[in-house]
Amino acid sequence: MHLLLILTLLGLDPRYHTYERVVAEVESLSLIYPEITKVETIGFTTWNNFPILAMKISDYPNVREDEPSLLFVGVHHAEEVLGCELSFFIIERLLQDYGKDSLITHCINTLNLWFVPILNPDGHGIVTSGIDTTWRKNLRDNNNNGLFDLDYDGVDLNRNYSFNWYTGGNDDPSSEYYKGSAPFSENETQAVRDLSLREHFLMAIDFHSARTGQGEVVYYPWRWGGDFCVDYPFVRSVADSLASSIINDAGSGVYTSIYGVATEGNFRNWLYATLGTYAYTIEISKGCTPPGYMVDSICERVFNGIIYFINRVYGPGVVLQIVDSASLIPIAAEVRVLGHYDPSLPPRMSDSLSGTFRKILLPGTYSFEIIKEGYEPLVISDITIENAPETLLVKITGVSERSTDFGSRIKINYRVNSIEFELRENFSKGARLDILDCSGRLVKTWSKELNGVEKIVWNTELQASGIYFAVLNDGDEIFLQKIPLF
Ligand SMILES: [Zn+2]
Repeated sequence: MHLLLILTLLGLDPRYHTYERVVAEVESLSLIYPEITKVETIGFTTWNNFPILAMKISDYPNVREDEPSLLFVGVHHAEEVLGCELSFFIIERLLQDYGKDSLITHCINTLNLWFVPILNPDGHGIVTSGIDTTWRKNLRDNNNNGLFDLDYDGVDLNRNYSFNWYTGGNDDPSSEYYKGSAPFSENETQAVRDLSLREHFLMAIDFHSARTGQGEVVYYPWRWGGDFCVDYPFVRSVADSLASSIINDAGSGVYTSIYGVATEGNFRNWLYATLGTYAYTIEISKGCTPPGYMVDSICERVFNGIIYFINRVYGPGVVLQIVDSASLIPIAAEVRVLGHYDPSLPPRMSDSLSGTFRKILLPGTYSFEIIKEGYEPLVISDITIENAPETLLVKITGVSERSTDFGSRIKINYRVNSIEFELRENFSKGARLDILDCSGRLVKTWSKELNGVEKIVWNTELQASGIYFAVLNDGDEIFLQKIPLF
């Protein structure tokens, strides 16, 4: 018998897509729905140099609109082919129902929905062709012999991300959990990393299936040592609702949600750690390759959860549009949600093009600190969030021009438990020196005391640490100086 025929007979149920069929269907869908789709090659695979395709579904797909962006990724792990099937199921359902279903139409019009149905086409081909239906990794030539060795090659792509790469995976190339020679050593992980950094996803789901049969689970970030992540109440609430919206294969209950560990160099944790994206893993079904006839039913039930997930964008949360107060130009600034701030993680930034910062929250009252070098820090206090995103225009004010002349009038000497203001000139009768905290609240003021003395002293012993501002009002002129207190 011809070798190819044997392999085909050993391969997967024909219900499962091959990579070639994925490429053809992506192409054909983009021709049928050109107004709401865009296909992008986000990279090329490590071994075969195959294009890694992403599809964006949105109105005006070729424009980078300032809308919430969501990402769905399938097949990090080659054998977990349901991720590709589910991606296509969602894509086709969204496209077919556009203009027919009002909710789906609204989502496509107001969101950027990104799909990478197969992140690992090289490995996927090993599975769909039947060469090894339990293959997990990509096809990295670990021993550089120019051949593909089933017993030695490949990198576990979901252990190749930089966040906690050192503590995750396995160092042995022959291991199925081999993490690669370095973080982001693989083209596939680089491709989805670069897409994520560019699109700044608000939320994401990575589709997997558990070979152990321990599936039907939604994992969220994270538990690390004894601690949950700082956004625990919010990331968990989304995971709980997502999981409970999906009926299990047995029909006896729903998916469960549980924290994932932070220490394995995977995509979910990297996305959350690096960008603050609420990133989830769904372990679809109870195994990797259920019989073909079950696939539609599995996808249909998970789709119910996906619709909840997409819709969650319109629930409780905050949208801050951060601009320069003078020019109204959008600013990429750091935003801290007070009480939910982890200084060990990279700053959570507003978008560099639109200045927009989005975050999913729960109903409640929140304060936000906006930080940008060259600008006065700003705290927006006690914002009440109810059942929809609260949108605020945030104007931040540059300090550079106004602070230059302060020093020529007043010299600041930092002492233990006090600050000394050395007055270098005589001030007009109405001159006033104010100390403001970073929310703009008046902490201390001097006016007539400024006349006829060389210095005044501010006792800071009982003052909370943080950033303060000294503001000198002299006639028509205002001079400002930032004062850090530690
Ligand atoms: Zn997996």
